[in-house]
Amino acid sequence: MTVNFALTPGQVNKAVETVIKNNPVYTDMLAFYGPLFDAQEESKTRLRIEPLQIADDVRAVKTQEKFPLIEIKDFAYDKTESTNLFITIGRLAQEANPKLAASASILIKAVDTNLEPERLFNAILNGNEALFENVSEALDIEKQVLGFMTYNSLKPSLCTGADQLSAYLSKDEPWLKGYCPICGSAPIISILEGEGARSLICSFCWHPWSVKRVYCPFCDNSDNKDLHYLFNEEEKDLRVDLCDKCNKYLKTIDTRQVGRLIYPPLEQVSTLHLDFKAQEEGFEPGVKLFMED
Ligand SMILES: [Zn+2]
Ligand SMILES: [Zn+2]
Repeated sequence: MTVNFALTPGQVNKAVETVIKNNPVYTDMLAFYGPLFDAQEESKTRLRIEPLQIADDVRAVKTQEKFPLIEIKDFAYDKTESTNLFITIGRLAQEANPKLAASASILIKAVDTNLEPERLFNAILNGNEALFENVSEALDIEKQVLGFMTYNSLKPSLCTGADQLSAYLSKDEPWLKGYCPICGSAPIISILEGEGARSLICSFCWHPWSVKRVYCPFCDNSDNKDLHYLFNEEEKDLRVDLCDKCNKYLKTIDTRQVGRLIYPPLEQVSTLHLDFKAQEEGFEPGVKLFMED
């Protein structure tokens, strides 16, 4: 890949500073997300995760049938790191907007008494929505905040696990599907590179994979009469891909237009104006997210 991805905590900080300079409207939001990304990248450097092993014959079948390598429930995570990160994110959230702050304060106290973050982590991996309903109701907090803090505490482990697993993917045969080759989730954002290459980034494990340039990952459509995009002359590096067939949209970063480092989670939160624009035009996001404001 030719994209300059921000990989170290220092590079992520630099990417955040550049976005704030280019688009000051995100200053307040990134005062929260900047330190959050930082904490996640720092946490990654300390993670201990036993790499998942996939037998050759299993891998061969999955590749042939276009099944993702694992199911979400199979992801391993570092319990200590995720639990510490849960508290760190809670503290950052206490300094953020009132909606986040109120729920985060209650959650930090709850972890001190009877709430085991591990149950929440397992609930995300097992798709146990009911636990999130129950805990948020019992504590009288916003369910979205609970989901957001839990997912973001797990995220360094998910990304690291996906990186480890990517060694099992075929280098010669691009995936070209609308779902993640590692975990099967839908893409959250798309990246255009030089010479027409396009990658999608997974909304769950953040693994990037190649697809055709003219393609809707949400309905597998590559008929260019249904596919177009929103574009604004003032932001040459950003566009929103729209599909008339399924009515979904996907935000795209055109890295040929930028010299800055790309950190996909930062691009996702600092392009919310594009979400508003696409939704105003009547399109729906391809994936539902825990929280974006
Ligand atoms: Zn994935
Ligand atoms: Zn579509």
